[in-house]
Amino acid sequence: MPAVRTTCAYCGVGCGIRARTTGERKIEITGDRDHPANHGRLCSKGTHLGETVGLEGRLLYPEVGGKRTSWDKAIAHVARGFARAIARHGPDSVAFYVSGQLLTEDYYVANKLMKGFIGSGNIDTNSRLCMSSAVAAHTRAFGEDVVPCTYEDIDEADLVVLVGSNTAWCHPVVYQRIMAARAARGTRLVVIDPRRTETCTDSDLHLALRPGSDVALFNGLLSHCRDVGAIDSDYLARSVAVPQDFWAGLADCSLARTAELCDLPEADVRSFFNLFTAKARTVTLFSQGINQSIRGTDQGNAIINVHLATGRIGKIGTGPFSITGQPNAMGGREVGGLASSLAAHRDFAPENLAEVQRFWSSPTIAAKPGLKAVDLFRSVREGRIKALWIMATNPAVSMPDVSLVREALAACPLVVVSDCIAETDTTRFAHVKLPALGWGEKDGTTTNSERTISRQRGFLPAPGEAKPDWWAIARVAREMGWRDAFNYSRPAEIFREHARLSAYRNEGRRCFDIGGLAALSSRAYDDLEPQRWGERPFAQGRFPTPDGRARLVSVTQRALEAPLVRWPLTLNTGRYRDQWHTMTRTGLSPRLLQHRREPLVEVHPEDAASLALRDGQLARVITPQGESVFRAAVSAGQRKGEIFTPIHWTDCQSSGGRTGLLPRGKVDPHSGQPGFKQTPVRIEPLEYDWHGYAVARTLPGRIAAGYSTRARVAHGWLVELAGTRDPGPLLASLLPSGVRIESHDAARGVRRAVVSQGDSLLAAIYLTRDGSLPDRDWIASQLADLQASPVELLAGRPAIPGDDCGPIACVCFNVGERTIQAAAKAGADSIEAIGTATCAGTNCGSCRPAIARLLTELSSIELEAAE
Ligand code: SF4
Repeated sequence: MPAVRTTCAYCGVGCGIRARTTGERKIEITGDRDHPANHGRLCSKGTHLGETVGLEGRLLYPEVGGKRTSWDKAIAHVARGFARAIARHGPDSVAFYVSGQLLTEDYYVANKLMKGFIGSGNIDTNSRLCMSSAVAAHTRAFGEDVVPCTYEDIDEADLVVLVGSNTAWCHPVVYQRIMAARAARGTRLVVIDPRRTETCTDSDLHLALRPGSDVALFNGLLSHCRDVGAIDSDYLARSVAVPQDFWAGLADCSLARTAELCDLPEADVRSFFNLFTAKARTVTLFSQGINQSIRGTDQGNAIINVHLATGRIGKIGTGPFSITGQPNAMGGREVGGLASSLAAHRDFAPENLAEVQRFWSSPTIAAKPGLKAVDLFRSVREGRIKALWIMATNPAVSMPDVSLVREALAACPLVVVSDCIAETDTTRFAHVKLPALGWGEKDGTTTNSERTISRQRGFLPAPGEAKPDWWAIARVAREMGWRDAFNYSRPAEIFREHARLSAYRNEGRRCFDIGGLAALSSRAYDDLEPQRWGERPFAQGRFPTPDGRARLVSVTQRALEAPLVRWPLTLNTGRYRDQWHTMTRTGLSPRLLQHRREPLVEVHPEDAASLALRDGQLARVITPQGESVFRAAVSAGQRKGEIFTPIHWTDCQSSGGRTGLLPRGKVDPHSGQPGFKQTPVRIEPLEYDWHGYAVARTLPGRIAAGYSTRARVAHGWLVELAGTRDPGPLLASLLPSGVRIESHDAARGVRRAVVSQGDSLLAAIYLTRDGSLPDRDWIASQLADLQASPVELLAGRPAIPGDDCGPIACVCFNVGERTIQAAAKAGADSIEAIGTATCAGTNCGSCRPAIARLLTELSSIELEAAE
């Protein structure tokens, strides 16, 4: 089969992929060398997409009330439920909560139905949680939500500043481009992040600033630029409106004051400022660390202000560059999928309402913005929203304060969920489940962080009765009576309409204009090459505002919350390198889980010492909103006073690790984006009577242990366990029937049991009170290929010990940290040399920062030894 060119399912980098079908739901993935986003590169998540296209856990048929039904009946049920709520309580009594996972065509139809036909603005998207502060900052500064940069600007920059972004893990291919620029032209790299992440490994400078002090840092930088004559006065005079008193607002932004507010050494702040003024070609990439804050919009504008004032925008190798988390967050912004925008980059101005209503020939139009995500779910809980349709997202996990969200979903009279996955934390609340096509099956377009529209093409058959989201939305719209307006038969028709709307009465008023694609034939749409819209926005120094000028926006550093006695620490949250969102896809890949199998809470060594918290111990993380259990990882990369937990784990995988329970619902006043990155928190060590793990081919639905986290391994599961009561019921539920041998040393508190059948290991469990546990990977490998004798299994080690490669760093080639360290000790002193010796880092490259970190750690140990 020839390879199909498509786009990665995950992050907003939007890498091109070539997928070749090699068997039934078996595919081979390679990077697309002809795609401008990645030129053939892929990270570990993209590389291993092939492991995630099986049908396990898929939602294959429509269900109403938990029972399978036909599409006709399900559509009629949804249409009736929405129509009834609208008739009785008005259009604002219904809502859609959609997702950056939707394709642009799905998004377009959902937005058209809600805003133009139902007549409410109540469609919001999980992109609200991800980058809506960047949208608000762009709109305030430029007059339109336009990202001015492209990835080529990174290639051409002399200085890259990364703010609030663990790029090496969250946008790995962008990080690879930065590393390539460093190698090719010596691009300097500054990382601004309270945490010392792997992104910092190969940086020139890391500023571990006080969380939430970014406005102070960038106002200080702007003040410094003014002091040293680095402001581009001509550009300002020509292209930027400067509010009265703008400069007076920077009077108290001296370098010393900046360093104090940001809790940084003055020398480091000076180095950053000097580097910035010395390198005219600067790209400042910002991401969730900026956006997911209650002052995210101001932080975005503080960054943009510096670029506008120094004229570093609209030129090669320059610009403020918001990088998005989701594959189609940008497409959603383009169609108007945020409650705060109308359609095609238009706001709710009266002339826009009239224009869009005319274009859609719709009976009504939403007169005002709808409810943003946090308010939307509050409204559901308060009973004001009577019917809610959730598409391609898992808000029962991903929203802040999810206890409130779950209460809302439980109380809502009609919850419809369109998803690929049958059992998620959200589908548990669904009255109606609609089976959606997944990646590899669906067909349409996405837009990535640099405005490139790419085709996502289907190459796998639709499983069961799964359908495209646009099809289900259009069917419901037709059932509600709007037959002609939703009479689509293929995504190309929707795309053409979307393109026409972007150009309709535009006349240069908005940058987003893809009218050139409005006449694409269906064949040309099928063959569409990646297209970037707005080749270099703002190159002429003109902006989409009434006077053609951008705006400097006066922003001041708001007072930071002092630690509270009851909540003395600050919780920061984020992603792991090889996982994606709530793991419904990446959690299917044993290989990807090797990098991190458990949710960890990272704690600074001094905080851990003061709490008597040991590395590896389980700990309860508590906020006013909720609590959850994580395994502690003591790490000097954390700032003192701050802890970090990952966002991925759900009730489906763990009894703990539930980061969504912890953040508060406090939002940025401009964008409505929740401040996930800073929640007052405390942490308590937990003592269990026993802990251990099990491997098993199959698992019961409920695991009878105080703590459990399950991770896939080849041919089964690995489950981390801890408990306080007699583990007898746990053993009874986890161990299947078969040939069972076990040992129990009551004095030492060691209990082990192994069950096999013929040549197969079915399950094994290892519990201990305080001693060490056998190597998990060796035991798990016996599930796939039983080589060990029963005695060896019970002992937990082979009679002739093999090499212990340590925690896996390179998931492509299964290379562990100890193997890399051994290669380094044998003389491999660079990432390339490690690659030659071990293969690590030679495929997707996601582990290259980890290899660099190991090399740095090793050389500092050697240096210390030499001293
Ligand atoms: Fe996919 Fe990785 Fe590229 Fe993101 S960087 S689009 S996850 S391959």
